Amino acid sequence: MNFEPGERIRGILETIEAFVRTELEPLEADFLSRPFTELIPELEGKRDKVRSLRLWAPGHPEELGGMGLSLVDLGLISEAVGRTPLGHYVFGMHAPDAGNVEVLHLHGTAEQKERWLRPLVRGEIRSCFSMSEPDMPGSNPVMLGTTAVRDGDDYVINGRKWYTTAAEGAAFAIVMAVTDPAADPHRRASMILVPTDTSGFEIVRNLPVMGHAGEDYFSHAEIEYADCRVPRANLLGAEGHGFAIAQERLGPGRIHHCMRWLGICRRSLELMCDHALVRTIAPGKKLADKDIVRAWIAESHAEIEAARLLTLQTAWKIDREGWRAARQDISAIKFQVAGTLQRVVDRALQVHGGLGMTDDTLLAFYYREERAARIYDGPDEVHKLSLAKRILRERRGGG
Ligand SMILES: Cc1cc2nc3c(=O)[nH]c(=O)nc-3n(C[C@H](O)[C@H](O)[C@H](O)COP(=O)(O)OP(=O)(O)OC[C@H]3O[C@@H](n4cnc5c(N)ncnc54)[C@H](O)[C@@H]3O)c2cc1C
Repeated sequence: MNFEPGERIRGILETIEAFVRTELEPLEADFLSRPFTELIPELEGKRDKVRSLRLWAPGHPEELGGMGLSLVDLGLISEAVGRTPLGHYVFGMHAPDAGNVEVLHLHGTAEQKERWLRPLVRGEIRSCFSMSEPDMPGSNPVMLGTTAVRDGDDYVINGRKWYTTAAEGAAFAIVMAVTDPAADPHRRASMILVPTDTSGFEIVRNLPVMGHAGEDYFSHAEIEYADCRVPRANLLGAEGHGFAIAQERLGPGRIHHCMRWLGICRRSLELMCDHALVRTIAPGKKLADKDIVRAWIAESHAEIEAARLLTLQTAWKIDREGWRAARQDISAIKFQVAGTLQRVVDRALQVHGGLGMTDDTLLAFYYREERAARIYDGPDEVHKLSLAKRILRERRGGG
């Protein structure tokens, strides 16, 4: 296994790293102190620059104008872009649009692609993914309360969703709803495209997450679907295939998340070191002179490198054998990298003392926003249980 990027990707990474440092990092103070919508015009300008560098949405399939990169190369780009909270948005690699593009590309009809996929790929509209519900366990996604009942040529959707990330300002939602309650649990639900201006689609509120409701792309909505009527032509893929499509969407998507988290880890470690080197803690003594801080720095470095290798190895396996063959590895990186992220950000924040709790550095934002890494895309516990189950089954000789 060799994860050394080839010449082309090395060049791309250098360009991205320079862009992130010179064009995006200077915007972070504004990002932390102003409403996101006020930044959008400036970010659109940055997106245009990314397009002119021919680096827009590198993860999209080649036939949609993407670069046809391997998952390993794409992971390296995600890590580089992940140094800043603005990176994925400005480079057109942001969730949930990236996953929704994949789903529409693989399962959309010609009309759905024309109406939704093409403008999404170009970054002209945004989308959201509406699966989790306040009254059902998201960790067991076959349990859903939202229904889509056929009525003539329509589906009528009823239910309540929450944590629909980036719903505010989105043009459409991909909604997971039960279409056949009598079917086998994995065949009950379907994915349906719902334009957000449909009557009966109502954003009840943006959820306050650790005190911040956010707005627009940086928000998580609670949504009421009340007799929300859409044509049956809005079904995405086959009826009853919603769960299978969701699995397919989340598999490789975890590589992007993990590599983004590693970008955050690297940034946090840099902040930790920079602060430790300048903060005088006693006459003639810097924080960096303290053994405990040195141990945190060394531990963080080792944990990041280990998590990175595991993630790249998983990406490499998916590239060679497909995501199904790598399911065990995908579970392992999900909780390993999420845990690394939490420990590294926590140590960096601790080293900054009171400053770390303010929004004068990125660390409080990361601490607040990225705590969720252990919860979404399957809570860590679920991944641990499924990994252990497979290991034990193999040990018992069950294959
Ligand atoms: C910031 C953020 C963004 C999100 N974005 C989206 C989005 O865009 N679209 C969307 O549809 N959803 C989204 N979600 C929702 C997310 O997918 C769910 O929160 C997640 O699946 C967990 O479901 P739950 O919250 O219902 O927790 P529950 O299923 O109620 O689980 C609660 C806790 O129980 C434990 N647990 C669960 N199952 C087991 C088990 N088998 N064994 C042991 N312990 C267990 C875990 O610790 C878990 O955290 C987002 C969530 C967050 C926090």
